[in-house]
Amino acid sequence: MKQTNYDIAVIGAGIIGLATAMQLTDKYPSSRVVVLDKEKAIAEHQTGHNSGVIHAGIYYKPGSAKASFCYTGNKELRRFCDKNSVPYKMCGKLIIAINDNEIPMIEELHKRGTDNGVKGLKLIGKEELLEKEPNAAGLKAIWSPNTGIIDYKKVSTAYAEKFKNNGGDLLLDSAVLSLEQKNKEIYIDTHDKTITAKHVINCAGLHADQIANLMGQDVGIRIVPFRGEYYSIDATRTNLVNGLIYPVPDPAMPFLGVHFTTRIDGSVEAGPNAVLAFAREGYSKMSLNIRDLINTVTFPGFWKMSAKHWKTGLSEQYRSINKKHFLESLQRLVPDTKMSDLTSPGAGVRAQAIDRSGNLLQDFSIIETENAIHVLSAPSPGATSSLTIGRHIVGLAQHAFEL
Ligand SMILES: Cc1cc2nc3c(=O)[nH]c(=O)nc-3n(C[C@H](O)[C@H](O)[C@H](O)COP(=O)(O)OP(=O)(O)OC[C@H]3O[C@@H](n4cnc5c(N)ncnc54)[C@H](O)[C@@H]3O)c2cc1C
Repeated sequence: MKQTNYDIAVIGAGIIGLATAMQLTDKYPSSRVVVLDKEKAIAEHQTGHNSGVIHAGIYYKPGSAKASFCYTGNKELRRFCDKNSVPYKMCGKLIIAINDNEIPMIEELHKRGTDNGVKGLKLIGKEELLEKEPNAAGLKAIWSPNTGIIDYKKVSTAYAEKFKNNGGDLLLDSAVLSLEQKNKEIYIDTHDKTITAKHVINCAGLHADQIANLMGQDVGIRIVPFRGEYYSIDATRTNLVNGLIYPVPDPAMPFLGVHFTTRIDGSVEAGPNAVLAFAREGYSKMSLNIRDLINTVTFPGFWKMSAKHWKTGLSEQYRSINKKHFLESLQRLVPDTKMSDLTSPGAGVRAQAIDRSGNLLQDFSIIETENAIHVLSAPSPGATSSLTIGRHIVGLAQHAFEL
């Protein structure tokens, strides 16, 4: 290890931590910055298990951080990828109204996206819909040409390389176990070393609330893990879809509903759903971590959230255990999808922040405490927005840390 005393320690080498660290060292080349991650490789959790979509910014409440960060982030990400030879494809996306009831909902969504400044959004009828996606069902759709696909692990690798070229240190296999403020330094312990930093930026994703707690901060939220399960469409049947096909989302939930996602490598995924996970890194149905589960169920907000959303929760659980029901949800969008098309199940786990009143935090949440900045909520479209979120954090750090 090169040194043990830093100005800033970023905890978490997911896409948000790396985007932040890269931009910090771009702007302040003389500051000593370290990124710590508990895994042996970068981007092993949400970033490495996401859908790989470059979102355009349609869904989000006008005026929210998600709406503005996604819109800007989409453009910045593409500019970065053009400059740094990270492949991506602007394949476009359809959000489909399957029945008459859903038509006013997509019209409202179209208005929302347009109000958010998203360019090129178009409401299209059945004929044009079928030209774009010959196997899709539906009466009307939103066509979003500024939605694309990418591999966010590759993006994260590019951020990490730039950070290291700027002189930053990346310490993997370094789970942060304790943080203690002594005089003007924060002592950060991992299993095999202690380093110090004047300031901490907490980008620990599924563990962000726990890192804040280790710093003695009660930040009023709990991260509750929601697993998103998906299937890969059999390699011989990827021509079922050309790009991205989404349903009309439930406006009360932060998830987009099961959809078809073409990946940048040409494979196609169907899903993800959203079921409560019994472990923060619960990638399989069998995953259980008693400590994580107790942590979830002892938070009063969890029960208030369950009381509000139990019907949706049960329906998602049912779809999780009943593959036929999963298939039926997909057949609403693409009727020709068959059981034999659904192969190789996989999953990602979302870090869903919940407040004490049981509200699911829908927007990004980034707060300051003494000597620290905490990213408490960075759900989708966090990867699309990573450069903008990182720049926002650097702006906060400039004032809070007097850089
Ligand atoms: C299923 C799914 C699909 C998604 N689809 C999309 C999409 O298509 N487009 C999009 O824009 N966004 C999408 N998102 C959201 C996007 O993936 C996240 O916004 C983004 O990855 C968050 O990055 P992060 O760096 O905050 O978290 P993470 O990637 O989870 O990184 C956190 C890091 O912190 C580390 N860590 C945790 N605790 C410690 C500790 N104690 N010590 C050291 N290290 C620690 C972890 O190992 C991890 O590497 C999706 C998310 C999921 C889960």
